[in-house]
Amino acid sequence: MQAAKNLKSTLTSNSVAPAQIVRPSSPSEIAAVLRNPRIFPSPVRPMGFGSSTTRCLSAPGGTLVDLSGMNRVLRLDKDTVTVQPGITVRELAAMLEAEGLELYGGFDLANRSVGGAVCAAGLEATIGGNPSQFAAHVTSLKVVAPDGKRFIVNEADKASLQLMRLSYGLLGIVYEITLKIRPVQMFTVQSARVGFKDFAKLAPRLSFATSGTKLYLMPFKDRIFLELRRPSTDCIPGRKLAWRFKDWACYSALPSALRSLAKVVPIRRVRYPLSDTLSQATQSLIGQSFLRTGSNSLEQTGRFKHPGSKANFSNCTWAFPATSFGNIAGTYRDLCLQHYERTGFRCDMPAIVFRLNQDRRALLEPAFDGPMFTISSLSTQQDGWDDFVVDLAEFAAANGGVPFFNQTPGATSELAISGYGKRLAAFRKSRRRLDASDRLLNHFFASYMG
Ligand SMILES: Cc1cc2nc3c(=O)[nH]c(=O)nc-3n(C[C@H](O)[C@H](O)[C@H](O)COP(=O)(O)OP(=O)(O)OC[C@H]3O[C@@H](n4cnc5c(N)ncnc54)[C@H](O)[C@@H]3O)c2cc1C
Repeated sequence: MQAAKNLKSTLTSNSVAPAQIVRPSSPSEIAAVLRNPRIFPSPVRPMGFGSSTTRCLSAPGGTLVDLSGMNRVLRLDKDTVTVQPGITVRELAAMLEAEGLELYGGFDLANRSVGGAVCAAGLEATIGGNPSQFAAHVTSLKVVAPDGKRFIVNEADKASLQLMRLSYGLLGIVYEITLKIRPVQMFTVQSARVGFKDFAKLAPRLSFATSGTKLYLMPFKDRIFLELRRPSTDCIPGRKLAWRFKDWACYSALPSALRSLAKVVPIRRVRYPLSDTLSQATQSLIGQSFLRTGSNSLEQTGRFKHPGSKANFSNCTWAFPATSFGNIAGTYRDLCLQHYERTGFRCDMPAIVFRLNQDRRALLEPAFDGPMFTISSLSTQQDGWDDFVVDLAEFAAANGGVPFFNQTPGATSELAISGYGKRLAAFRKSRRRLDASDRLLNHFFASYMG
């Protein structure tokens, strides 16, 4: 097994350095790590692309298992594909596209690993009626247990599969994943913009709408851009170039322009209106002009949204009950305006909102009890961000917010307990049974699951 020479730069941002970093190339090598705590000390944390924004990967004095080398496609069948966990969503989407096939789900963070997307919660603009987690499309997982033994979970044992999806590497290390796939399907994209007051009236209809929903919130402009996707059998295929342009404009050009602006115009009160104008122009250009049709396949080959420390921006996500989201969006706007008034800091990028459909295929699914809307606050500026994250947690506590263990810095254990309730208690019990010696448990997860 090759010890990784270069500690991924991502790790320094979300963990204290582990004593060992290993890059296995087979399940037996993973098992050898888990069986030998003397050479490979605890906690052992599996890592995909390393883009989580919490300390879920932190393994101080322990062992980090970097799965990026296990990135092969193992089998392609008519309705499923079987892969190793380290392959990125983008690589897999590109391979499937060449066969006229695609992954289910409207997720757009293409650089993450398939293992990370299956083991940790994500966000996507899911069409109504479909599950919102990438993990929901898993039909079978092969896992090395904390004691080094191997096991398989599949659809024949729904309860075990429900436990393993979104299990954050706490119940074992996944080394093989089978996912549902389908022929490429088109959707239409409808764009619109509204103010926050009008959105409050519109939001209840969006909660259960058949369209996939992605929103861009601009609190300081009192503007919300809507991007609604509807399945279509008769629209013409979307243009790859248009989706590439969108990916580049939103996740590369805009953040870079905002960072440059911060250098050239250091006075915030002068700079922020310019940032808003740039963001609004980007949204208008993309939404109002040429993005009319698309497919998962077109979207997932995007390459500019670099997660982890390669990202151009910081990110903090909370999920909120869809039933009251119209008001919550307005309260979020108030929070942003008041925080800015008080501290001089505000996010310089639009916040992104997705609707998560209710689904029970994973025990730790944030939308287990009903549809949710997520708000991801994004900023290219670090100075003042940490205080904003604290205020966000208070706002979430007051509005029924549910944290993601991989995407919500600043979430207290009380908020996790109130968000996941009995399901977290059930997960904790299973975790204790499967990992009695806490081989995979780090300090971060101990605060939620210990
Ligand atoms: C700028 C930025 C933008 C983002 N935008 C989005 C977005 O649009 N949508 C979205 O969903 N997320 C987004 N994220 C969050 C992040 O990318 C997701 O959490 C993603 O699912 C993590 O994938 P990864 O491969 O990086 O997993 P990692 O961060 O490496 O791991 C995530 C978790 O899964 C576990 N894990 C990974 N691989 C395995 C395995 N093989 N076996 C067992 N456990 C494993 C890890 O231990 C960890 O607990 C963003 C993050 C950043 C920094």
